[in-house]
Amino acid sequence: MEDQIEKIVNLILDSNFLVALTGAGVSAESGIPTFRGKDGLWKKYRPEDLATPDAFKRNPREVWEWYTWRMKIIQKAKPNYAHVCLAELEKKGILKAIITQNVDGLHQKAGSKNVIELHGNIWRARCTQCDYKEYLQTIPQDIPPKCKKCGSLLRPDVVWFGEPLPTEALNMAFYLSNKADLMLVVGTSLLVQPAASLPFIVLKNNNKIIEINPNETILSKKATITVRMKAAETFKIICKHIEELNNN
Ligand code: NAD
Ligand code: ZN
Repeated sequence: MEDQIEKIVNLILDSNFLVALTGAGVSAESGIPTFRGKDGLWKKYRPEDLATPDAFKRNPREVWEWYTWRMKIIQKAKPNYAHVCLAELEKKGILKAIITQNVDGLHQKAGSKNVIELHGNIWRARCTQCDYKEYLQTIPQDIPPKCKKCGSLLRPDVVWFGEPLPTEALNMAFYLSNKADLMLVVGTSLLVQPAASLPFIVLKNNNKIIEINPNETILSKKATITVRMKAAETFKIICKHIEELNNN
């Protein structure tokens, strides 16, 4: 363990272009359920049946009820050591960017600046008919909320199953993955494309991957180092180690 952390710290400090790819697991220790754990269920629905354009067409109110349930959890959540350590690494100029599949905004709350949101943000809503977008200051009470410009239904500005990713964010993610000489892959099951393909770009370029996930993924055997631990626990040790090196 101690050995592994030292290797990781050396890889991080020796890197020229460090990028992180994060998924729901990075926020799990902040109390935000992942989709695939049992805590992710709401009224016995699977997220795969709610986060879809079809579900919204059938019952926009129910989909908004699910999102406001999640917003209440996210509103109370604080960034954990993983978010905080990644923000510190950026401040030190070591970490160049975070590519995240999360919609909770916790990386930004921890102080990270260069965050590429592949799946949108739960605190934004957009019109289903016109170009109106809104940043939600509070959790909508009157649901489904309506567009202030044209009166049509607003929807959460997140990517649903079966929908394409925002082009600009996706292009940036491909660019960063190609440029990275080291990628930290944290708390993602790598079951959702195209995000799952990003670490494989790094490997194809003969660059290095550190995976942090208590469970095995399709990447685990190919990664340079795989850490079978929780994200916050791991980053607490990593950043403490880096601090100690700085103080000596
Ligand atoms: P996912 O596919 O990213 O899977 C979660 C992964 O995190 C699993 O591999 C699991 O082993 C790992 N994990 C669990 N606890 C961990 C911990 N403490 N430390 C490190 N890793 C841990 O996410 P998903 O839940 O299957 O969701 C799919 C989609 O929905 C993604 O876009 C996801 O980001 C999004 N989602 C976002 C949030 C959020 O914004 N916080 C929450 C749920 C789902
Ligand atoms: Zn509108």
